[in-house]
Amino acid sequence: MVPGMRLMVRVWGRGSGWFAEGVRTLSGRSRSAYVGAFSMALSASIGLQSVASVPARAADPGIGRAGPGIALTVEHERPTPTPEPPGTAAPEEIPTPSPVPPTPTDAVVPILYYHRVEPLPMGFDAWSAAQQKSFLQYDVLPVAFAAQLDWLAAHDYTTILPVDLTRHWATGSALPAHPVIISLDDGTHDWMTTVFPLLQRHGMVAEFYTNVRNVYRGALSFDDLRVLAAAGNGIGAHGIDHVQLAGFAGGARPYSDAQTFKEIAGAKAILEREVGVIVDSMAYVGGGLDAALIEMVRAAGYTSARTIIRGTMQHPDQPFELRVVRIGVHDDVVSIRAGILDPGLPTFAAMVRARGQDLTAPPNVTCLPAQQAVTPRSGMSADDVPPGVPDPASTGPACGADAPGLDGTTAP
Ligand SMILES: [Zn+2]
Repeated sequence: MVPGMRLMVRVWGRGSGWFAEGVRTLSGRSRSAYVGAFSMALSASIGLQSVASVPARAADPGIGRAGPGIALTVEHERPTPTPEPPGTAAPEEIPTPSPVPPTPTDAVVPILYYHRVEPLPMGFDAWSAAQQKSFLQYDVLPVAFAAQLDWLAAHDYTTILPVDLTRHWATGSALPAHPVIISLDDGTHDWMTTVFPLLQRHGMVAEFYTNVRNVYRGALSFDDLRVLAAAGNGIGAHGIDHVQLAGFAGGARPYSDAQTFKEIAGAKAILEREVGVIVDSMAYVGGGLDAALIEMVRAAGYTSARTIIRGTMQHPDQPFELRVVRIGVHDDVVSIRAGILDPGLPTFAAMVRARGQDLTAPPNVTCLPAQQAVTPRSGMSADDVPPGVPDPASTGPACGADAPGLDGTTAP
């Protein structure tokens, strides 16, 4: 209700033997309302005869006065609240403080690092040494991969994606009790024929770091990547042309800054356009990185990047230097040709369970040439260790530990 004025006019005559009064309610408190009240009082005094006479009361203002007079009493009305229908009153809003995410801390998250998962091909023994080296350096046997997934499931590990880790750091969202990230690099057809079915069988997901060149060359298709993404897997970027962009001795770069940024941002843009997902993570081709490259990766809109530096401890102030556990073809494989595994997967278990400090030197340390990292482990037969295969237990990051392109040439 709009508050207004209640006007009472009282007029008394000479001798105060008679009395008249009137009451008028005026809405609003505007100046015109007050003018109206005064006009009413004036008209009441003039037309007094028309106003009903009432007995004088002790409290009337004219009692005891010598002559005629007029008195005005103005009462301002208080606004009366409109009653709300039951059940419709809006609940009182209690301001709640916005949640403050806890300070992000280091997290033990093993990031397993694979390329291809394939059986030993027919005719392998007739292959050239270079072909054999490529297979043994970048492949894992399906029987071993399946056993590793079995081991993870049996030991209560839950697969997450890099975005889950960065979201955990940004918002405080919970991680599972035993998180693990499975990642694969490059992009080959075995991802669809072998890796994806095994992941699905175990209810697991992985981050598939794809280089665009492999798709354009038909190693797998954008349709394949859409299938992977639809099943909850992550699609990460791994360059357009699969060129190592940094990490060379003396800071040498194969590309200008503009070309380098195009390789980083372009891979993200192409994959996002063709697959229809957000590509939030990338893997450094060849593992090469430096501070300037990290800034480009950040500027391109990624929220994380995976290195090939060994370790299971991930640091919230280094989301663009995620550490890995590299899984090799020899890990817990007694015989590659017969596909016989060491029960219990002791090597795999030890790498996944490694906690605490990084297993290798910090980033931006000149890496060792791959051939210097070859160290046959005990119990390994000589013919199972081809030249150039880095020992997974090696304590130094190996240069060129990434896969060569489909044409067999290594990235520069
Ligand atoms: Zn690669």
